[in-house]
Amino acid sequence: MKQSILPFKTRKDAPKDEVSLNAKLLIQAGFIHKEMAGVYSYLPLGLRVIEKIKGIIRNEMETLGASEVSLTALQDKTLWEKTGRWDDEVVDNWFKTTLKSGGELGLGFSHEEPLTALLRDHVSSYKDLPFSIFQFQTKFRNELRAKSGIMRGREFLMKDLYSFSTTDEEHAAFYDRVKNAYVRIFDKVGLGEVTFPTYATGGSFSKFSLEFQTITSSGEDTIYVDREKKVAINKEILSDERCAELGLDRENLEEVTTVEVGNIFNLGTKFSEPLGLVYKDEAGNRIPSVMGCYGIGLGRLMGTIAEVFADEKGLVWPKSVAPFDVHLVALPDAEGTVMAAAEVIYETLSAKMPIMFDDRAVSVGAKLADADLIGIPTRIVIGAKSLVEGNVEITDRKSGETTTVALSEILNYLHG
Ligand code: ATP
Ligand code: MG
Repeated sequence: MKQSILPFKTRKDAPKDEVSLNAKLLIQAGFIHKEMAGVYSYLPLGLRVIEKIKGIIRNEMETLGASEVSLTALQDKTLWEKTGRWDDEVVDNWFKTTLKSGGELGLGFSHEEPLTALLRDHVSSYKDLPFSIFQFQTKFRNELRAKSGIMRGREFLMKDLYSFSTTDEEHAAFYDRVKNAYVRIFDKVGLGEVTFPTYATGGSFSKFSLEFQTITSSGEDTIYVDREKKVAINKEILSDERCAELGLDRENLEEVTTVEVGNIFNLGTKFSEPLGLVYKDEAGNRIPSVMGCYGIGLGRLMGTIAEVFADEKGLVWPKSVAPFDVHLVALPDAEGTVMAAAEVIYETLSAKMPIMFDDRAVSVGAKLADADLIGIPTRIVIGAKSLVEGNVEITDRKSGETTTVALSEILNYLHG
């Protein structure tokens, strides 16, 4: 992509009305636009990061054998009344609206009810189970506080996966596979080192839920990590008894501030019973399906990655989620020979890898500051002086290390 065609500009300074680091940097670098508190639009660079994250998650969901759907955001009140979750006293972050023809609708904050109800038409025998279903879908939550940028939006994209099993044992086996898939997802996006499966409050059907918590100073949660065992326990449920139960030694636990990037829940028959998602076993008994749900917030994950890796110059994307692999920067020259040479490099490289080409007519300082701010992992700078010698300068955004590379060797260098 040529940067000159991008209508969205970077800003010289971070927006003053944002408190969170992710929103400050992502707005300044032109990845997102703030519509109002807790409501953000994704611009081309931000959308590319979301799509990369989506690709990583989708790949793992397909490996689990889950089928992808896309359910509607508009919710039928009667279904939520059956599970007791329509009540604002029970769910405090509903967005609700009314139809012109009369009657109320909800904007989905989660999708257990509609998906469970939908499946009644498709499940009758034990032979129809087990299976799992996922989607990337927009959720609406009337969050009281919206100071964390895209890490806590009032409208946000979630990957939600739901599993449907015949027995607790069958459910437990799938739950373990999802847990491992989540570990791989957070590894792949670069957060493996700082993300911990964390025991937390479980709800009515199991003792614990498992949150995936990432260490970051801006987080809203406090957990206690055992770095060696690579697990943690949420402060909400911390007690010496619980530690013993989970095989953790209180002495080895370290208190850290974190953000919940994902969580997995055992739902038991909490939804299948009231909504009537039952199957017939071999003897013909009608038995409610055992369910699990497994969420990851894509915006929250992107905001967390932005915060964890940022430095004083701006964003630093791990390659797996970067909007482009390479940022080609042509420095201004009066004769236009640099731009012509850069065009040739751009044509050659763009056939091989996602590359952004800074072909804008702006100053050297502005180009380099923008490249730092945007944070694409590898930068190729081509200027009049190095071009005469037949070279370019290639810089690694993370380490700041610069290498002089011959024009003919660029591809070898990038692939090496
Ligand atoms: P939290 O405890 O942070 O309020 P939650 O426990 O309500 O989140 P879930 O309902 O389990 O979250 O949602 C699944 C995932 O969706 C979370 O792990 C998180 O990654 C993401 N998520 C939840 N709320 C938001 C939000 N307001 N904005 C962005 N992502 C969110
Ligand atoms: Mg939570």
